[in-house]
Amino acid sequence: METPGPPELGKERTRRKTAYFRLAPASKYLDRAILFLEKGKQEFRRSRPARNRAMTLLDKFGRQITDLRISITDRCNFRCVYCRSADPENYRDHDEILSWPELDRLAKIFLSLGIRKIRITGGEPLVRAGVEDYIARLHALGVEDLSMTTNGHLLAERCERLMEAGLRRINISLDSLDPGRFERITRTKSFGTVMHGIDVAQKSRLAPAKVNAVLVRGLNDDEVESFAEFARERGVIMRFIEFMPLDADRTWTRSHVVPAAEVYQRIHARWPLVQIPHERSETARKYRFADGAPGEIGLIAPVTQPFCGHCSRIRLTADGKLRTCLFSKEDHDLRGLLREGATDNDVETYIRSVVDEKEEGHRINSPDFVPPSRTMVFIGG
Ligand code: SAM
Ligand code: SF4
Repeated sequence: METPGPPELGKERTRRKTAYFRLAPASKYLDRAILFLEKGKQEFRRSRPARNRAMTLLDKFGRQITDLRISITDRCNFRCVYCRSADPENYRDHDEILSWPELDRLAKIFLSLGIRKIRITGGEPLVRAGVEDYIARLHALGVEDLSMTTNGHLLAERCERLMEAGLRRINISLDSLDPGRFERITRTKSFGTVMHGIDVAQKSRLAPAKVNAVLVRGLNDDEVESFAEFARERGVIMRFIEFMPLDADRTWTRSHVVPAAEVYQRIHARWPLVQIPHERSETARKYRFADGAPGEIGLIAPVTQPFCGHCSRIRLTADGKLRTCLFSKEDHDLRGLLREGATDNDVETYIRSVVDEKEEGHRINSPDFVPPSRTMVFIGG
């Protein structure tokens, strides 16, 4: 992939929380919050039992939001070509990133709104000191499903502590089984370390580990069968993710996308696959091997088979912005709200109003699609 000019970062339109508090009543933000409150009150009166309603985050399309991805850092020790720029560091300052107490407070609020699944991500979540303690606090709050996505570089040495803290599931990125190619993709020499991390996770209570490969045409799409073999040999859940237009170097084109249907056909031709039922809101279509071999295949097709209709996810970026879609044109400033003294009630109301407006779907396949200025490493996958 070519590397054109530097990415445009940080130009996302951010809805200021200050609007919610301080702008004149004519402000569309304040209006929106008031309208939302009124609508909420009416719904509340209609609903039975009201208490359950209060525990539910619903958008205007009736989708229930139960999953939150929390990016705890925009920093990363890798520089994957489909994610981060080859340019020098362009991280946010430390004080722009949510502190642990701010993250704790938001987690409590989100849980009170009906969030049940939390995935910790980044950047690379294991580069932020204190992540195990944060997981322990989330666990103590009663998060039903607590997981993490990591590049695996620091996993082997941290696996035990993460499990003790309450982590229940792990996704590890691995985009090539060839050390030289892995180095070209991640721009690190960490192949052996990551493989060791996968081994350690696979021998732990986190097994079966999910191993994520982003397929990019011409880069690693010749490895589909090898990855499937890897799943069979190691008993891991091998997940193939379609390349999305969220790379910092802006090299994405449709021709780089390897459709999930092609991946299915190629694996099925060699080792017949049997579909496993999945929850409607799950991103992956899941398959086991018909011959009873261990391991599973997962296909994630946000480009060729969007799953927006059943989306149950929202995202919190490391700098405290709430995003209702990976491809949102707008993010919503929770950090500002917290730092200006909002009460929990204010924050809850604001979150409800933002979720209410969640996009019906992404527009990758529309002729007028424009990628968001925030790229994957700054959103949290
Ligand atoms: N650093 C961790 C890792 O790599 O697993 C967590 C953060 S990373 C942004 C989360 C996930 O997003 C990874 O599985 C990564 O492969 C995926 N990802 C990054 N850029 C992507 C892109 N342009 N298209 C599809 N997936 C992408
Ligand atoms: Fe870092 Fe993960 Fe992005 Fe790779 S995919 S550059 S490991 S955040």
